[in-house]
Amino acid sequence: MLHLQTCSITGLSYTYQELRNRCHRFSRALVTPPEDGGVGLQKGDVIALLMHNCPEYPLVFLGAIEAGVTVTTANPSFTAGEISRQLNMTKTRILVTKAAFLEKAGAAIQDVPSCNRIIVIDDLDSKCTANNCLSFTTLMSTFSNSGSVVHAEPLDLDSTVVLPFSSGTEGLPKGVELTHTNLVSAIQMAEHPEFIDSADSEKQDVCLAVLPFYHIYGMNGLMNLSIRVGREIVAVPKFESTTFIDTIKKFKNDKRKTFKYTFLMDESDHELTLRCWKCSLRKQLGTGTVQRPFAGLWVPSVVYLVPPLLLFLAKHPDVRAEDLASIRQVICGAAPATKTIIDAFLERAERKNVDFREGYGLTETSALGTLIPKWAGTFKTGSCGCLMPFTEARIVDSSGKGVGAFSKGELLIRGPQIMKGYLNNEEATKKTIDEDGWLHTGDIAYFDEDGFFYIVDRLKELIKVKGNQVSPTELEEILHQYPGVADVAVVGIPDLRAGELPAAFVVRTDDKQGSDLKAEDLHSFLSTKVAQFKQLLGGIRFLDSIPKSVSGKVLRRELLQIVEKEKLQK
Ligand code: AMP
Repeated sequence: MLHLQTCSITGLSYTYQELRNRCHRFSRALVTPPEDGGVGLQKGDVIALLMHNCPEYPLVFLGAIEAGVTVTTANPSFTAGEISRQLNMTKTRILVTKAAFLEKAGAAIQDVPSCNRIIVIDDLDSKCTANNCLSFTTLMSTFSNSGSVVHAEPLDLDSTVVLPFSSGTEGLPKGVELTHTNLVSAIQMAEHPEFIDSADSEKQDVCLAVLPFYHIYGMNGLMNLSIRVGREIVAVPKFESTTFIDTIKKFKNDKRKTFKYTFLMDESDHELTLRCWKCSLRKQLGTGTVQRPFAGLWVPSVVYLVPPLLLFLAKHPDVRAEDLASIRQVICGAAPATKTIIDAFLERAERKNVDFREGYGLTETSALGTLIPKWAGTFKTGSCGCLMPFTEARIVDSSGKGVGAFSKGELLIRGPQIMKGYLNNEEATKKTIDEDGWLHTGDIAYFDEDGFFYIVDRLKELIKVKGNQVSPTELEEILHQYPGVADVAVVGIPDLRAGELPAAFVVRTDDKQGSDLKAEDLHSFLSTKVAQFKQLLGGIRFLDSIPKSVSGKVLRRELLQIVEKEKLQK
């Protein structure tokens, strides 16, 4: 429809028409040989995106895909070591980042032989002088008048298009191979009339995008789907309570209404003004043939949340009912949301026309598995919805036998949105997708008499902190490297704000290094190795031994019981 992307901080925005043109330009820049001013990528090469949500994100993402390049998305809060690991595993050729992460990006690619260039989006002043840096602005201006890239061969719909990372049911984070078919199927399922509304020319939805585009939920569930249905996306770079509240308030009172902008449109697409709420800059981007004043909804009307953000909106003292007044639809997922918090949010939003939808999905299901349909309303609060179209599910007991309604067991999912597999990891792929094509989610669930699903527990080792994945294996491997650590196990302990927090149980060695070992040493060691959200905020406890099964598997439930007992004793 009209606006596509707006930055919540600068207010800069562009339109759908602009997106299309810029995607063409970026894709052409990527495939053009360096001697002609381009980057020289080949079809199938990998490009990595290391940035927070910003208006350029979708254009770099979709432009790369248009060029036939595979995209891997990394969390900018990762350490250089974590980024290097992802770039090496995916054999990334080019890293795209913003000036704020340039130092980290430079350090990360030093250990990545395949990657020797960094494209800097906001290449401010002198930041982009290093030999291996390319200015995004310069690249884009070089290819200003180009059309779309024409490939010699037709697009292979089963080729890998994105490589987000997930640790799956066990082990270290792995590249998840999602194909064109996977991503597009998931979007089309959501677009089914029972689920998400498509664009309405009189009433363009404004979607507040605080969930990161680098995670599958933000990437496919929010960004790709919103583009497909024609919403304006207000990109919030990073969750900070003040920025988030300000953004809601700012866009709620958007001056565009009082400026009485006139948008110039043509029949096929729309062109409009570039605006900045800070400096009130208004500049025309283009013209069309039909002149029509816009009389739509200019406030955040659709909000994607994870449970900690829902809790924030429901309980934070600075959020008032009137700040939520514009919100007509909330999509919540990535971790369990309790009925109490959902009710508290709806109470604060005064329940006025808020269409609350919980959904469930995994990186391995291109974000979508189940969603509350439109007609269900709050009738099924606490459920994560029913199956998306073309999706099948089974609940199986520990012997693998299917069970009926209200019986708990592992949830298996099958459908066109299921990943192709884990990158270069056939063993993990075979363990996760069985011979009949069922994805073993590692989640314990049941369904009710109406076919609504409820996630009740997790069989897999994964820890989710504010919707972000933390792999216990990754932390255990790092902690094992520290002198004085004989054995270690990491579990996620429940936390009201974050959902879960990683906690470590450590066995000291019998020597001096072991007796000298303190929790602070491990905390400071870990702080240099992994991102902030993976830190052991659930604490470090020392034990004489880690409880294990006869086969050597850590009995994580017994460790959780230790934490529960501690709580009772307090
Ligand atoms: P990710 O691959 O990071 O999206 O994580 C997928 C995992 O998040 C699932 O396997 C679940 O454990 C969890 N998850 C996602 N959505 C929900 C939900 N609505 N309720 C409970 N857990 C969820």
